[in-house]
Amino acid sequence: MKTAEIKRRFLAHFEANGHTVVPSAPLPAIDDPNLLFINAGMVQFVPYFLGQRTPAFSRAVSVQKCIRTPDIDEVGKTSRHGTFFQMNGNFSFGDYFKEEAIRLAWELSTNPIEKGGFGLDPERIWPTVYLDDDEAFGMWQAIGVPAERIVRRGKKDNWWHMGIAGPGGTCSELFYDRGPEYGAEGGPEVDEDRYMEYWNLVFMQYEITDVKSKEVFTIVEDLPKKNIDTGMGLERVASILQGVDNLYEIDEVKPILARAAELTGKTYGAHSGHEAGKSHPDDVRLRVIADHVRTALMLIGDGVTPSNEGRGYVLRRIMRRAIRSMRLLGWEAPALPELLPVARDCMSPSYPELATDFERISKYAYAEEETFLSTLRAGETILDTAITDAKKSGGSKLGGAQAFQLHDTYGFPIDLTLEIAAEKGLEVDQEGFRRLMADQRNRAKADAAARKTGHADLSAYRTVLDAGGPIEFTGYQEVTRESR
Ligand code: ATP
Ligand code: MG
Ligand code: MG
Ligand code: MG
Repeated sequence: MKTAEIKRRFLAHFEANGHTVVPSAPLPAIDDPNLLFINAGMVQFVPYFLGQRTPAFSRAVSVQKCIRTPDIDEVGKTSRHGTFFQMNGNFSFGDYFKEEAIRLAWELSTNPIEKGGFGLDPERIWPTVYLDDDEAFGMWQAIGVPAERIVRRGKKDNWWHMGIAGPGGTCSELFYDRGPEYGAEGGPEVDEDRYMEYWNLVFMQYEITDVKSKEVFTIVEDLPKKNIDTGMGLERVASILQGVDNLYEIDEVKPILARAAELTGKTYGAHSGHEAGKSHPDDVRLRVIADHVRTALMLIGDGVTPSNEGRGYVLRRIMRRAIRSMRLLGWEAPALPELLPVARDCMSPSYPELATDFERISKYAYAEEETFLSTLRAGETILDTAITDAKKSGGSKLGGAQAFQLHDTYGFPIDLTLEIAAEKGLEVDQEGFRRLMADQRNRAKADAAARKTGHADLSAYRTVLDAGGPIEFTGYQEVTRESR
């Protein structure tokens, strides 16, 4: 089943059950000072959950574009983490609660394909519940899941909150058993790759504060109303229904991976079995490339442009990682002109604006790659020499001065130096690097201060003085008088 069809069925199922279809919010989380990017379907509904605003509907359904940069190190290594993904979600604002949320999720998961469902084998679904949530446990039993497949888990997995003060509650997650070829038996507690989480049902009923960690926080009070917030990973369900090993092999991602493999002359999957974590490094790189190119497309599509701070910096790092991965696989020419159009063709059936806006999107992307490639060309040889020298002299560290020079003279970002050095088995003297950066900052500050107090180069004014004689500066008095 195509990803677009899974999305369509999800929306249709919940629409038929009284939910209003709400479009995805754009990726930049502009209304939320605590978030750079939307990372879940519920984010755009927070004011409704907190009772601060009243929605025009009590049930909603959406397919939200999400970015999760904290998952970046998992990309390509697990079978289920993308930096960009789409979260299908159904929401109840003080309308239905646990029982109906469980029933609606179960029906869509297990209803036969010809009846509009996903046709998942009920015997492969493992629900989890919070430790003492006997209510949810009983509801799963009533629906037909045997007790031995319902797993009780603690706060780390089955208590949901946003990581900051706000709404929260216990949750129940659905895991799908992909079979023995994907790992060890025994349920999600044993192997979260074989048993893949695909849907999280949050029973949101508290307002919490003092959030110290996932597991340490204080419940302030009950929310004005009980709510439901669910998130189903569209790509994860696609990987199940398309019978592929991971989400980089689904219809919306695989063509990018295949093109990258073709360009670099690598045979994807030549060395890998089904299990994640046992992949050949080349395969991991190809997955990273496919994921990151798609993420870059979606981010620029939503108005983010590469820069040195905030959202733009996240985009820049993601793009650079994709470009470097292509180089590490042996492709030295610009890669994005080859890969970005493929990503566009994968995603534009669901997001037609990517096609109509492609000229703008690609202009930013290709320009960024050009700049980065010239930085790389300038710095890479110098870095390589420094690394070889460090190794020759028996050290395991690259000097702070060299890292600083690379940064200062060649615009080589420190994270890139760290990454390349690590690949060659070297550490970087970060202490030393930071000291030199601080010295430079202090010098810049001193210069600026000197300019302010006038102890700077005043030769430009000498001609004025020579020509017209001294002028009495009355600015301070005048301004003071005026402001009185
Ligand atoms: P995991 O434990 O596998 O990292 P999660 O518990 O962090 O997932 P949730 O926060 O519960 O995920 O998000 C809801 C759903 O969104 C998940 O059940 C999953 O299907 C999907 N999802 C979460 N993170 C990702 C990701 N990085 N890439 C793709 N899908 C994701
Ligand atoms: Mg996660
Ligand atoms: Mg989880
Ligand atoms: Mg979860």
